[in-house]
Amino acid sequence: MTIGWCFDNTYSKLPDSFREKISPVPVKKPELVILNKSLSKELNLNFSNLDNKKISELFSGNSLPSGSSSIAQAYAGHQFGHFTMLGDGRAVLIGEHLSKKERYDIQFKGSGKTTFSRNGDGRAALGPMLREYIISEAMHNLNIPTTRSLAVVKTGENVIRETSLQGAILTRVALSHIRVGTFQYIAAREKNDELEILLNYVIQRHYPNIQNSKEKALDLLNVVLEKQIDLIINWMRVGFIHGVMNTDNMSISGETIDYGPCAFMDVYDPKTVYSSIDEMGRYAYCNQPVIAKWNLSRFAECLIPLIDKDQNKAIELATEMINSFEKKYEEKWLNMMRDKLGLFGVEDKDKFLILDLLTWMHQKKVDYTNTFCHLMNFEIKGKKNFEDNDFQNWKKRWHERLKINSNSPEKYTKLMRSVNPLVIPRNHKVEEVLDEANNDNLEPLNKFLEILAKPYSEQKDITNFQLPSSSNEKYKTFCGT
Ligand code: AMP
Ligand code: MG
Repeated sequence: MTIGWCFDNTYSKLPDSFREKISPVPVKKPELVILNKSLSKELNLNFSNLDNKKISELFSGNSLPSGSSSIAQAYAGHQFGHFTMLGDGRAVLIGEHLSKKERYDIQFKGSGKTTFSRNGDGRAALGPMLREYIISEAMHNLNIPTTRSLAVVKTGENVIRETSLQGAILTRVALSHIRVGTFQYIAAREKNDELEILLNYVIQRHYPNIQNSKEKALDLLNVVLEKQIDLIINWMRVGFIHGVMNTDNMSISGETIDYGPCAFMDVYDPKTVYSSIDEMGRYAYCNQPVIAKWNLSRFAECLIPLIDKDQNKAIELATEMINSFEKKYEEKWLNMMRDKLGLFGVEDKDKFLILDLLTWMHQKKVDYTNTFCHLMNFEIKGKKNFEDNDFQNWKKRWHERLKINSNSPEKYTKLMRSVNPLVIPRNHKVEEVLDEANNDNLEPLNKFLEILAKPYSEQKDITNFQLPSSSNEKYKTFCGT
């Protein structure tokens, strides 16, 4: 029986400027750490006839599957606001695999140097690759669009960061790796024919319903804007902080991409930042919609020559579209928060009810996820926090509001249960399982993944995974991994 690869590599057929044809750099001693069986199934792939050695050879890039045509993609990006030419400096796209339902990019991350490596070594360390595996799979199970993780192998080589670490390669699966930064790269070359090729490619691949539109570029801006609003609202719903929302890390398909210094917020504080290098809080929790709009403005700038021949008109149309962000965002955000509180219909006072709860959470420094668990009658950690007078008064208002629109407890509980996770990847737990995995103990990692696979379901004996860290030390995440 074969594995089931079905490659069709359209991106590698685009003009030379879009990519470099390159193979992964072979590694010394590949060793499989984890293979995602349920994702394999979704991709119609079956590795059960391969022994671990063959699987390790495959996912290290030492032996590429037939039909693959590997490339490093060119892109640019605004990193913390500064424009830079980038590209896959430590990744190769081995091809586009066709499952029965979808076309997926299969990418190796940590696969060696490319033209775009600049001063980097092209490699990745085990901890950060497993971290991406854990968080991306958790996000998927939280019903949030995201790239997925198919496998992690150790390379048998060390990578030098602050210390010497075990090297690893992650296999990333995405609807595509086309980013705002991809458009920025092509736009910077000032060749409108190339820009048009990219526009048509993206529309055909991701948004075929606007293929016949007379205003393709403007429609693309619109649909990407809507996708990004939906995505950020999902992040806000579960308290996810991406940490490095550079334009090269914003996917045109609307998936969460590039899990670097990301983390989940525990105590509710809109200004929460975990990334050690984000000193100004550019990518703080509350700033994510603001930055999404900023990134979309950079995207719109790339599209100007394709929106209208008359530049002034094009700018006017794009600006109007970008300025629709806030209103659309606020409406969708309110609806998301209504869902979290089990509210049906729209009432004028909803906004105040929601904001008053958030203000209380902020003032009393309570856990974001577990507050919603409390409202769904799942007590994670004593009731003490919630005996507070202000909270009790707020709860009375909430109960009054719940009665509107003939809302039965069954009905509103069902709604709340569908959007409020009972468990998230708590930062200290992520660190704990990564420490163990670094010491060759994969049991805690596998157990953690099992729990994170069902975040909306009641599971036995998981309190330990639901509690915030007892440490007062501020959690920090790091880039350059
Ligand atoms: P990221 O912060 O992961 O979005 O990466 C930003 C840019 O740096 C991308 O062009 C990456 O390919 C590149 N990069 C990150 N780490 C390395 C590395 N170890 N070697 C080469 N390039 C890298
Ligand atoms: Mg990136």
